[in-house]
Amino acid sequence: MPDPILKISGLNAHYGDFQALFGVDMQVDAGEVLAIIGANGAGKTTLMRSITGLLTNGPDQIMHKGTDIGRLRADEVALRGIAMVPEGRQLFPSLSVKENLMIGAQVLRPGPWNLKAVYQLFPILEERKDQQSTSLSGGQQQMVAIGRALMSNPELILFDEISLGLAPVIIRDIYRALPGIIGNGMSAIIVEQDISKALSVSSRVYCLQEGRVSLEDRSDTVAREDISRAYFGIE
Ligand code: ATP
Repeated sequence: MPDPILKISGLNAHYGDFQALFGVDMQVDAGEVLAIIGANGAGKTTLMRSITGLLTNGPDQIMHKGTDIGRLRADEVALRGIAMVPEGRQLFPSLSVKENLMIGAQVLRPGPWNLKAVYQLFPILEERKDQQSTSLSGGQQQMVAIGRALMSNPELILFDEISLGLAPVIIRDIYRALPGIIGNGMSAIIVEQDISKALSVSSRVYCLQEGRVSLEDRSDTVAREDISRAYFGIE
């Protein structure tokens, strides 16, 4: 068996004295799409930050294809093929759409994604390529953030709160685009508040509750009562 793309074991995370994650175990296999759900403050973003090198971790807590990446910097993690579409998009406001996209291409990895492929996926971005990114709608900015991550030709892409604050019609468009993004062997972790959407695009689901994994199950067969219990902690 090849090593999993990502194996997280006993992951703890702290902000100063505050502990946000407690012994999280998780695995992503090649080509797999995981969903992560959980209430506000459960630790989902902290988990994404830990994986992408924005928080440092203890030894052997985050293994990428058998190698410990827990102490790598964010740019080193990106070079290994792990990209994030962050919550709130975090575009560079003074740069154009095209310039924001090209930031992803700073990570020199070979693969199918380039400006042409991103423009094919989201044609509106080619129309708006010379505009400042802040002049775009929230949904269009989310497309730029997704395109920027794809430009680094990741093997594993993390979406943090993919549909937060977007209009339903835009969320629908982004979810329609997802199969064209994931696939071809690319793995993904999708953090999503909308549980039905999270389950519809993933093969397995994890729920976090107050920094701990409260549920791990198959997305197609998980029982709604188990999700309620894991999400809200109610019996
Ligand atoms: P949301 O859905 O609201 O984004 P989340 O599940 O992503 O929530 P995190 O943002 O990971 O949760 O936060 C987990 C816990 O860590 C929360 O209690 C939060 O207040 C705390 N936390 C997050 N960032 C910091 C920080 N920079 N300093 C101190 N505490 C933090």
